[in-house]
Amino acid sequence: MQFKDEIVLVTGSARGIGKEIALAFANQGATVIISDINDDSCEKTTAEFNDLKLSADNFPCDVTNLSAVEEMVNKILDKYKRIDILINNAGITKDNLFLRMKEEEWDAVIKVNLKGTFNCCKAISKPMLKARKGKIISIASVIGILGNIGQANYAASKAGIIGLTKSLAREFALRNINVNAIAPGYIKTEMTDQLKEETRQEILKSVPLKRMGTPADVAGSCLFLASKEAEYITGQTIKVDGGMAI
Ligand code: NAP
Repeated sequence: MQFKDEIVLVTGSARGIGKEIALAFANQGATVIISDINDDSCEKTTAEFNDLKLSADNFPCDVTNLSAVEEMVNKILDKYKRIDILINNAGITKDNLFLRMKEEEWDAVIKVNLKGTFNCCKAISKPMLKARKGKIISIASVIGILGNIGQANYAASKAGIIGLTKSLAREFALRNINVNAIAPGYIKTEMTDQLKEETRQEILKSVPLKRMGTPADVAGSCLFLASKEAEYITGQTIKVDGGMAI
């Protein structure tokens, strides 16, 4: 039980990669805070975890709203006294070629992916700095490193997360807080299930390991970055991409 009694907040954890990350920490003895924009799916996932006798609690929240995030963090602190690990996972895509990309598509993606990550880091920073202990892990993407046709908004948001991670790692280092990011490649989730089969085959040509990743591949890296074994690692972006962005 590597994370016994630790309090782990995972945003966007009602489904997909976030749910798998929460499950991985819960299986290691942590109390996981299931947080997502949709109240019903948040509640459903929390109940699923509790049915498995895992420690999970339900705190729905829209990460784009700073005061809502602050309220959530305060409620968690009232109940559990601390948050040991924050995983910024909530994210969306709104793909379009740049010439066709609408301002709303740009704004929406930046607002959830980058501003949402800022909001959660902002709300948690004071209590974490005071506790002089903590781990912040943000889910970026290889697209934030490589760029991609039709994903200027998404690439910019994820590159922003990588820059934010490096800066916070420097600012928080003296308070014993490690700040890192994970850059997944193509991971099999509802987000990528929407891809056409020919697009999927084309993508796999650029993946040396010749398979899509799984949410468990990403969750395993989160466990590592939050573990004692990774205590000398900060400000890094670990690619979990089958070698796609070597
Ligand atoms: P997903 O299945 O779409 O899950 C994302 C979750 O975030 C959903 O539960 C969604 O809720 C929630 N969410 C959306 N907007 C939110 C908001 N404003 N506040 C709180 N929660 C919100 O996506 P995923 O594939 O698991 O991706 C998870 C993360 O990994 C994202 O940051 C994504 O960019 C990143 N990533 C994914 C891949 C991949 O191949 N799948 C690759 C690289 C990086 P609703 O469903 O109710 O909207």
